[in-house]
Amino acid sequence: MTKWVYSFGAGHNEGRAGMRNLLGGKGANLAEMASIDLPVPPGFTITTEVCTAFYDNGRKYPDELAGQVRAALALVEQSVGLSFGDREQPLLVSVRSGARVSMPGMMDTVLNLGLNDETVLGLARASGDDRFAWDSYRRFIQMYGSVVLGVDHHRFEEIIERTKLDAGVIEDTALTPAHWQEIVTEYKEMVASEKGSPFPQDPEQQLWGAIGAVFGSWMNPRANTYRRLHDIPATWGTAVNVQAMVFGNMGADCATGVCFTRDPSTGEDIFYGEFLVNAQGEDVVAGIRTPQPLSRLRAKPGEVSMEEALPEVYEDLVRVRSTLERHYRDMQDIEFTVQQKKLYMLQTRSGKRTAAASLRIAVEMAQDGLIDRTEAIKRVNPASLDQLLHPTLDPKASRTLVSKGLPASPGAACGAVVFNADEAEMRAAKGEAVILVRVETSPEDIHGMHAAKGIVTTRGGMTSHAAVVARGMGRPCVAGCGGISVDYGAQTLSAGGRTIRAGDTLTIDGATGEVFAGSVAMIEPSLSGEFATLMEWADAARRMKVRTNAETPLDAETARNFGAEGIGLCRTEHMFFDPSRIGVVRQMIMAPDERGRRAALAKLLPFQRDDFRDLFRIMAGLPVTIRLLDPPLHEFLPHAEADLAEVAAALGEDLDAIRRRAADLAEANPMLGHRGCRLGISYPEIYEMQARAIFEGAIAATEEAGRAPVPEIMIPLVGMKKELEITRAQVDKIAAEVFKETGKTLEYSVGTMIELPRAALTADKIAEVADFFSFGTNDLTQTAFGLSRDDAGKFLPHYVEMGILPKDPFVSIDIEGVGALVQIAADKGRRTKNDLKLGICGEHGGDPASIAFCETVGLDYVSCSPYRVPVARLAAAQAALGASGDKTA
Ligand code: PEP
Ligand code: MG
Repeated sequence: MTKWVYSFGAGHNEGRAGMRNLLGGKGANLAEMASIDLPVPPGFTITTEVCTAFYDNGRKYPDELAGQVRAALALVEQSVGLSFGDREQPLLVSVRSGARVSMPGMMDTVLNLGLNDETVLGLARASGDDRFAWDSYRRFIQMYGSVVLGVDHHRFEEIIERTKLDAGVIEDTALTPAHWQEIVTEYKEMVASEKGSPFPQDPEQQLWGAIGAVFGSWMNPRANTYRRLHDIPATWGTAVNVQAMVFGNMGADCATGVCFTRDPSTGEDIFYGEFLVNAQGEDVVAGIRTPQPLSRLRAKPGEVSMEEALPEVYEDLVRVRSTLERHYRDMQDIEFTVQQKKLYMLQTRSGKRTAAASLRIAVEMAQDGLIDRTEAIKRVNPASLDQLLHPTLDPKASRTLVSKGLPASPGAACGAVVFNADEAEMRAAKGEAVILVRVETSPEDIHGMHAAKGIVTTRGGMTSHAAVVARGMGRPCVAGCGGISVDYGAQTLSAGGRTIRAGDTLTIDGATGEVFAGSVAMIEPSLSGEFATLMEWADAARRMKVRTNAETPLDAETARNFGAEGIGLCRTEHMFFDPSRIGVVRQMIMAPDERGRRAALAKLLPFQRDDFRDLFRIMAGLPVTIRLLDPPLHEFLPHAEADLAEVAAALGEDLDAIRRRAADLAEANPMLGHRGCRLGISYPEIYEMQARAIFEGAIAATEEAGRAPVPEIMIPLVGMKKELEITRAQVDKIAAEVFKETGKTLEYSVGTMIELPRAALTADKIAEVADFFSFGTNDLTQTAFGLSRDDAGKFLPHYVEMGILPKDPFVSIDIEGVGALVQIAADKGRRTKNDLKLGICGEHGGDPASIAFCETVGLDYVSCSPYRVPVARLAAAQAALGASGDKTA
């Protein structure tokens, strides 16, 4: 018989942390906490397999489920000494979702389940607190009514507001037990009239209603959106956790709270969280009352910390914090409840954190011996390092402060104000930078949060929805900015007498919580401290080298600062597009004969020589791969009349002749046309000029820097050995000439890009004349798929949505097809020459999944854009260390 239900707490622990695929994160960790003797209210988990079976069988449960639930509930009753549905001593339970990975706020929860018109009286007697009993009952009707029965939650709020108005009170807390009882009656009447049937009184029926709603919520639109954004397959399903209720709302010695074992924003090793006296969990997140800090040190004037309000329980919580960190060896996100001074743990999980926090926690835990360096390297998601490379506000820049809230997610952002998520998404899709400003956010807003550059909320704390979600997404966020008031109707926000309209520019600093009017200058980040430490560890662990794709001195310097170990691709055509040179380049192309071309090339030579000399100097002692001219000729052709006239004048030719020549040179399919080495073969003088510029530049740089660079000359778009043979001979001939003229020599190598399927398939032959291969996986993807790089954007996203392709193959390498070509070429090439150097310089060189693939092929290096160099260093280390770890950022 399949086991569908697993018990936890009170001596029955059938699950453990490692069973999260089956029990979901919450269920697995409740069982684990109970097994290390932390105080967990007893309960049971209905497995994720039930969810899958439920959807596979037309929303029907497996036959044995009801019996297993009954048996597990009996164990809970036994251990707490209460009975479900009992009039005198009723057991109440919570019903919560719990997927394999946490999906904050995405699915539904029902608390206080088991209350009805009779058990509420039992609860009142047993607790001796009428107010608590009726308040719990109304909370239950409200949650069950909206989550399970689908009644709009505003309908409930209206009834409370009306009761408060009639009673002449402002705060909920001023309502009497009789008021709450009256509210319950009105709630039930309202639900009955909305649904056409009375509010369910049978606890058993309530339980199955709630279980069904949690499984149903797995497929609700916001859960679907969240899964899509986070690559979570729908087939994983959610578990359902049913657990004995403990009450944080039974009086002044009760409380509820959420906390992180370290600061989730910075990673600092401090106990970090919020709590509310006399409240239930939902109150902390809902932002109705302002949560108070845990530790005295964090309390601002007027605030009362938990350390002061409930000192003994605070001590217990501090002990739990260290037990959990030592046990899980990771920063934890904890939910707890205090019932009459007794602490209960309701949840623990790896806490979501910013990239900065992830890095700091990994490094500090390794330094403290909690984890080893290998584990620290595996813990940080390489792609998240991007967040750390984000700019921050320039401290010297002038600024006008509008207001200050909580520093919920670091980084600076600037954009036009929008007040709703749909508009944020729409305007961002048009390329506009927007800042989403909301009173508070809810799971319905995540698409807009994703589209925005930054987020501001006027309500809510550091654990509010906006704060948690923004950190996960790496969006700068200022939360709880109470100084700002938002008027959605007028589409304005106001603060300190200033009014800002939708569309006006705002700048936010998510690290300080400040909001500024207009745009404020930003600066690039500095990469020291834990960043440098982790990078050092990663460098020691990786096998592959990391180079950069760069052609300007600025890019080369930036990349070196980020740790690049040379240049893997310098696209020389980019140097030709410079406005000061394009005219001469056009003269070269349009010249009627070799003599004309050579005259134009002679003018380009000094420019190229200086360009190369600068790059060689910056990369002194490191390899620099210079790729000879590649792009289709048509990219350089003059189109505008003025450009045509300029070329005609410079060449002393008739304008019509120039026009005809431009038309002759136009191609039907330029990407498969006269480009790459085909140009070098048709017009050898072009590659000769470039080779001369390289050798002369390298010799000059050696004199300046005192160290010789290692030029690697790369021939593009080779498909046949003969092409490389011919072009290589041109380069060697020029090298000999320059060495003779200058009386100096240097080491250099000549290799080719492998970016055509024919080159990959005949790599054994090509390797006979190549010193190295560099995989040009952009063109290789284009030609292997027969898919234009420039037009694919029109339909590829649809292919990915439909599951025809798992990812955009221009972003992450198609291992099955393009990867097979890379593997074949690497094997064949090395069979001919076992010391053949192999690298990659397509965009995939900066993509962690593709880098992992490169490691399996045994490439010597990856090359990527400067800002991805740190990402590649870490990804290469993880690839070398094998399977990646549990990355939490
Ligand atoms: C490639 O094709 O992968 C490559 C690096 O060259 P380019 O993008 O310049 O065509
Ligand atoms: Mg290419």
